[in-house]
Amino acid sequence: MASSTKDVHFVLLPLMQQGHMIPMIDIARILANHHATVTIITTPVNATRFKPAIDRAIQAKLKIQVIELQLPLAEVGLPEGCENFDMLPSIDLFVKMYASMDKLEKPLEHVLKRLTPAPSCIISDNQFPWTTDLAHRFGIPRLVFHGPGCFTYLCLHIVMNTNVLNEISSDLDYFVLPGIPDRIKLTKGQASGWGKRGTKEMDDFFDRMSVAEEAADGIVVNSFEELEPNYVKLLNEAKGKKVWCIGPVSLHNRSVLDMADRGNKAGIDEHDCLKWLDMKELRSVIFVCLGSMSSFCNEQVFELGLGLELCNVPFIWCIRSTTDEMEKWLLGYEERVKDRGVIIRGWAPQVLILSHKAVGGFVTHCGWNSTLEGVSAGVPMVTYPQFADQFLNERFVIDVLKTGVSIGVEVPVGVGEQDKYGVLVKKENIKTAVESVMNDEREGKARRERARELGEMAKRAMVEGGSSYLNTTLMIQDIIEELAKNA
Ligand code: UDP
Repeated sequence: MASSTKDVHFVLLPLMQQGHMIPMIDIARILANHHATVTIITTPVNATRFKPAIDRAIQAKLKIQVIELQLPLAEVGLPEGCENFDMLPSIDLFVKMYASMDKLEKPLEHVLKRLTPAPSCIISDNQFPWTTDLAHRFGIPRLVFHGPGCFTYLCLHIVMNTNVLNEISSDLDYFVLPGIPDRIKLTKGQASGWGKRGTKEMDDFFDRMSVAEEAADGIVVNSFEELEPNYVKLLNEAKGKKVWCIGPVSLHNRSVLDMADRGNKAGIDEHDCLKWLDMKELRSVIFVCLGSMSSFCNEQVFELGLGLELCNVPFIWCIRSTTDEMEKWLLGYEERVKDRGVIIRGWAPQVLILSHKAVGGFVTHCGWNSTLEGVSAGVPMVTYPQFADQFLNERFVIDVLKTGVSIGVEVPVGVGEQDKYGVLVKKENIKTAVESVMNDEREGKARRERARELGEMAKRAMVEGGSSYLNTTLMIQDIIEELAKNA
């Protein structure tokens, strides 16, 4: 039985999707830094993405290990090696991925039986509902990690547990979200982007997930209390369980290496990237990176590029994947902007770039991790949401934090739907939004100052004595007490 932090063994089961896996790997290292033993369960392809960070943690004598399990992909009709949601070409295949994830229960039970020291707590992504029964069988607590911050988590709770959306007929109609302290206006389409139902399999899956969340012993949130104090309290009341805000977890990455290869091998050498940034003026660069899942049609990429060309600011622009047509277009484009623009293909060392003093603004798709990483870097944001909870995070940045400017997207575009919608954001809108976060006029200055203050608060939360540091200690203590009660 665990009687001190040193005896606690956390088993972490991250979802195989960058926006869930990356913060969970940070959480694993944070817990190990607090002297707990940590085992991360994942698949071989995903393990290679964060291997360097874990190897460094092991070298630093942290008690952390990775155990790989094989997803039975062929059994559900997915190609071998397709182990992450970012490898699925269309949202229709998500259901197959969930089916293969469900089959990990028995193999994981087998692993847990052999672990030494015995597991004390499972921290499971919300999307593994079967971990409820597994934790019961081992007689240990189970915490869930879901991804978003408390504001968005609460909005999703209201949307999914009340009739508010049923009363609105069109997806395009704006309404004011009830039950929260801020006046948040959004369309039905934007509010229902997460947990989109439709097929019987997806309906069943979401029902199982919500039952499993109700059964959890607590919720781990990548946020910090000072960022959204009202929403931490309201989420705690709405869910009727402990909410542990232990972030921003990205701030645990302090060395260049930890920041540079966080989540994947970057498409730019980190030293070249830093050299380029070092030559730029303080807060002069805009960084454009639209997440690990977003996709855009050729025309929208060209328009985004032209918009950046129109702005008179240096930029780093990450394009997740390019088509042949994009590459042809980029040949001439890169030549034209070579004096002030850098294009990264594939994976950007996002946290490394954002932490550089030359970066003064961030064009983000408003995935929660990116949003919080922008907050932590103390920079204002241009918000360019696409789907899922991104429109809610956009509202948080603009209406609650007041550190963002919208690029003007109103219609959600799901994974693989980019060609259906064409160009939604014109170059002129890109120029206007980027210039308003980067300019030195009164409103822009005030926004930058608010962003800077939030960045300072974020950093304070994560160091010893800060709220998130303390919450991590209390969370571990709580697990020790739970285990003592059940002994
Ligand atoms: N990320 C990165 N480089 C990229 C794209 C994404 O480092 O080129 C990281 C980013 O820092 C964040 C995560 O991947 O931690 C993406 O999570 P988020 O919730 O922002 O969005 P998602 O990709 O899940 O839509």
